[in-house]
Amino acid sequence: MMLTVWRCQACGTVRLCGRRLCPECSSGRWLEAALPSAGRVLAVTRVHIAPAEAPVVGPPFTLCLVKTDVGGVQFMAASEEELTIGDAVALSCDRQAAPYLVTRQPARP
Ligand SMILES: [Zn+2]
Repeated sequence: MMLTVWRCQACGTVRLCGRRLCPECSSGRWLEAALPSAGRVLAVTRVHIAPAEAPVVGPPFTLCLVKTDVGGVQFMAASEEELTIGDAVALSCDRQAAPYLVTRQPARP
């Protein structure tokens, strides 16, 4: 399963959900594109008690708000790792678990 975003053909604005008109330039020309594969953690919480259908293996697991590097799209994701605000993460999709899984990436120089 590929996760997608919508990119305005006129100005390059990226949105997670499609809209009739671009909020930046009012263009109605959108193209579906792959979700950027990298981002940074904006907020995080660790889950120690979860419902039977937890989004990842565990508990414990981490739920976090991630901002993508391209387009600044923000969404909730889950991770088996303990993450902190500011961590660089890679995004992936797993049909067996949450739609967005993140793993910590090495710090950039
Ligand atoms: Zn636009």
